[in-house]
Amino acid sequence: LLLGSHTPALASGPAYRNAWLPVRVRVNDLLSRMTLDDKLGQMTQPERLGITDPADVAKYRIGSLLSGGSSQPSPNTPVSWADMYDGFQKTALTTPLGIPLIYGVDAVHGHNGVYGATVFPHNIGLGATRDPDLAERIGHATAEEVAGTGIDWNFSPCLCVARNDRWGRTYESFGEVPELAVSMSSIITGMQGRSLKSPSSVVATAKHFIGDGGTTGGKDQGETTLPESELRKIHLPPFKAAVDRGVGTVMISYSSWNGVKMHGQSYLINNVLKGELGFKGFVISDYNGIDQIDGQKGFTPAEVTASINAGIDMVMVPFEFKKFIDTLRGEVQAGHVTMARIDDANRRILTKKFELGLFEKPLTDRRLTSTIGSKDHRALARQAVRESQVLLKNEHGVLPLNKHEKVFVAGKSANDIGNQAGGWTVGWQGTSGPVTPGTTILQGMQQASKNVTFSKDGTGIDKSYDVAVAVVGETPYAEGKGDRPQGMGLDQTDLDTLKKLKDSGVPTVVVLVSGRPLDIAAQLPDWDGLVASWLPGTEGDGVADVLFGAYNPTGKLPVTWMKSADQQPINVGDGQTPLFPFGYGLRYRKHF
Ligand code: BGC
Repeated sequence: LLLGSHTPALASGPAYRNAWLPVRVRVNDLLSRMTLDDKLGQMTQPERLGITDPADVAKYRIGSLLSGGSSQPSPNTPVSWADMYDGFQKTALTTPLGIPLIYGVDAVHGHNGVYGATVFPHNIGLGATRDPDLAERIGHATAEEVAGTGIDWNFSPCLCVARNDRWGRTYESFGEVPELAVSMSSIITGMQGRSLKSPSSVVATAKHFIGDGGTTGGKDQGETTLPESELRKIHLPPFKAAVDRGVGTVMISYSSWNGVKMHGQSYLINNVLKGELGFKGFVISDYNGIDQIDGQKGFTPAEVTASINAGIDMVMVPFEFKKFIDTLRGEVQAGHVTMARIDDANRRILTKKFELGLFEKPLTDRRLTSTIGSKDHRALARQAVRESQVLLKNEHGVLPLNKHEKVFVAGKSANDIGNQAGGWTVGWQGTSGPVTPGTTILQGMQQASKNVTFSKDGTGIDKSYDVAVAVVGETPYAEGKGDRPQGMGLDQTDLDTLKKLKDSGVPTVVVLVSGRPLDIAAQLPDWDGLVASWLPGTEGDGVADVLFGAYNPTGKLPVTWMKSADQQPINVGDGQTPLFPFGYGLRYRKHF
């Protein structure tokens, strides 16, 4: 037998270094060599920005880092990300046992933290496609781009079942019924691949367990009041599907269930998730999530104990990692947290690290870096955009447009990558403007036809045009900031633009760029056509494909569309009369 240089280490050296041995054996061997401090470090996940002295990664035996959504400024190019990752990883490898880090980011619609990455439609748009195979391919493409920056772990997908569109995270949901998140959980399989060992696989995260989309008033981090049977019926099935697909990690929700914060819900995490569903991966807290158990700022020893004993295996600290390690050590020494619990958490975490092949290949596989923002991935995103468009109104065949028509395009989101990408794009909350390379909806339309004129605020519209297209809707937001407890209508800028189009008498099509249904019933009679575009991401030509009929729309509403905001929450089967029902979506009659 000839053994090449790529052959994993043989019998010499500790068993945990031997890649030929089963993961279970390697984990047990490693665990037997670890000190309490090694074990505490594995359970600790600081924010990259919380590491003021890089040597602390080794000194405190840190097991994981994250670049959170709110972690700005981030390194921006793919290569600077990979260099950063490798730098931290090399430091971790200098510890006596050389346990590699597992590094996590929120790549929730493509590797959205990185300038130049492919930005896919947000989940609500994917829910409109009803295409699990597409979701799986997107998962794989996202994983390639994430792995291309060295990162091992993605805090995605959000499997929330968004029941109230006032919630600012509605767009992170595949839709208002559990069946959608269940079927689109195929994105997990795309991310994790057939084996985590593949260089293009990353660990996925099913989040946020459980009931994040069911809060009263759609309040972010709020309270979900439901009988257990309803919680199980509406919010549990996506997690069961994720566990059945072998999802590597589960993130706990900031919300509470029947008055108790999820970060302290032992029954749901230990008994239901780990027991009943048989989840074998590890549980991560949300960012500062354990702080909220007692409703006071910061974390106490009691909160550390409550969360670890509730079944949380790794805590996203994110800044006070030294205090967290000291506190947990104190709680172990006081007997409040058993060594069996610490070992169980470590087993779960280390198992993923071995499965990922991190001990053999801890550094970035730079061959994948060129996939970031590649032509292939952008083509896949364009297809996703096409499939996600939902045609809601089409009077006298105003759509599809044709090349010979004189088209007047207006609206604040017609030529704005930031608006069409939404939150979680380069920055946490997202921003309007040219945040990252891509094709705007206007540019896509200009590629499709030479007869396109643009005026952002609608000035200049007159009777010489055959049709007007207004691209309006919401500007970027993410969690917290995105809640709309009051109105859910269009803003004054959009209403002013639309008024100019209406006064001109030119037939008007509205393309709504938004993270959720908006309160548009009052304006709808003025419009001849309406397309729900959701937050399509960087490939605006996919919207143009639908507008010009290169693609006959197939998207179906993943949510019920309210007639007025005071109907919220409005969901299929609740007896309220919507503007457009769940599942609604028109096609063009014309033959293709
Ligand atoms: C969000 C999570 C996210 C985490 C890390 C939190 O604020 O709720 O979804 O994964 O930040 O960025």
